[in-house]
Amino acid sequence: MIGNRPKIVVLGAGYAGMMTTKRLTQQFAPEEAEITLVNKHNYHYQTTWLHEVAAGTIDVNRSRIMISDVINTRRVNFVHDTVVKINKESKTVQLENGEINYDYLVIGLGFEKAAFGIPGMEEHAFSIQSVDTSRMIRDHIEYQFARYRNEKNPDPSMLTIVVGGAGFTGIEFLGELAERIPLLCKKYDIPRQDVRIIDIEAMPTILPNFDEELLTYAKESLEYRGIEFKLGTKIKEVKEDSVVVGEEEEEEIKAGTIVWTGGVQANRIVGESGFELTKGKVNVDATLRAPGHDEVFILGDCAWVMNNETGKPYPPTAQIAIQEADVCAHNLRTMIYGGTLQEFKFDDKGTVASLGGSDAMGTVFDGNKLYGMQAKVMKNVIDDRYLFLLGGPMLVLKKGKFRPF
Ligand code: FAD
Ligand code: NAD
Repeated sequence: MIGNRPKIVVLGAGYAGMMTTKRLTQQFAPEEAEITLVNKHNYHYQTTWLHEVAAGTIDVNRSRIMISDVINTRRVNFVHDTVVKINKESKTVQLENGEINYDYLVIGLGFEKAAFGIPGMEEHAFSIQSVDTSRMIRDHIEYQFARYRNEKNPDPSMLTIVVGGAGFTGIEFLGELAERIPLLCKKYDIPRQDVRIIDIEAMPTILPNFDEELLTYAKESLEYRGIEFKLGTKIKEVKEDSVVVGEEEEEEIKAGTIVWTGGVQANRIVGESGFELTKGKVNVDATLRAPGHDEVFILGDCAWVMNNETGKPYPPTAQIAIQEADVCAHNLRTMIYGGTLQEFKFDDKGTVASLGGSDAMGTVFDGNKLYGMQAKVMKNVIDDRYLFLLGGPMLVLKKGKFRPF
């Protein structure tokens, strides 16, 4: 009986994968389905906190949650391995250390940086992509401070940090740097004015298409804390210790640290496995399934989900990934045991961005604008709500932003 259970395999333990797995354990009794979760680490991380890890304003371990702490691994087979390729025709997944087969597949392999073919970007720029890449940024910045302190005639550009892109990731990272850099200056006895933090954004404004009042607030808050902006300026090339910008008149800006936050794309495994891509992602149907493959759900940053009201896809966010997980788990139950498939409808609860320390800004619910401490409290509530959904009150107490110790 147990041996004939349908096999559901979830790839990736990000927001989409973790919440889908959690919901599947609630939707199916143990004898009704075999659930497998595959992830390249034995921990889940808070992607939405990686800018803090990268700047060094939170400890790496705060952003990591052991999978076995929140998923019942007697109920779910957890496979600690890296996905290499999905073979849709044979319904198998090739891993670095083996192969597994599935009846139903959920792909939640997340995002990777989109370098848009900019020469040198892959080789010379850091990116806020995972715990490992974010930790490298933190360590590299601190190393530059230590070098600067120890060299007789240090090159001043050693302490220049260039951030490419002023989308939400770039802006949140700048906010953390604004908090962290004064502390590093104190630690290494370096005057704050020796450090430059320059954001370079191709569009004439930061946070393109966001609310004008809120983005003005964010820009002024960051400028007040010493961040410089070069707007309407496109990065054309990245070298080992500089970025090249400008269209007609080229300018080379020397920097000891270059961090690219200029955009994201779906994990390349999806395209390499033969799923048809639209602007780097799979355009899933309203039930979140891949075209032509009813047994394959694609969620989170690997999927385009169209907003039928605007005719544009929703932006890739954790908020959407979490909501998609509910629909995916419901639809898997429906496909196996009957019922009506649910269509995904995004319930937009707003967007709040941290600006470092106790500052933030954003909109909540029906477009109410929040600034400063009020917005920061809301951001922390949003973060802790997810922890509560995933691991209940104990996880909030252990990792949450409002934890008492
Ligand atoms: P991910 O969270 O990227 O998870 C993918 C998982 O797959 C990871 O655990 C990874 O280890 C695993 N994986 C990848 N490749 C493999 C492989 N080959 N084999 C096995 N496992 C693999 N969104 C918001 O809504 N609110 C925010 O405040 C917010 N802040 C953000 C801040 C930052 C700094 C960044 C970078 C993004 C932020 N986002 C925010 C966007 C949000 O983090 C993403 O949309 C979200 O993480 C997507 O979830 P996901 O489950 O699709 O993928
Ligand atoms: P993004 O695509 O939103 O922003 C990238 C920015 O880089 C854009 O402003 C773009 O104009 C700029 N850019 C692109 N090419 C450039 C070039 N050559 N030179 C200079 N600038 C260039 O990417 P992101 O900020 O990484 O965000 C990814 C997703 O994650 C988005 O959907 C975002 O909403 C989400 N996110 C949300 C939050 C939040 O809700 N608080 C925080 C972080 C990220």
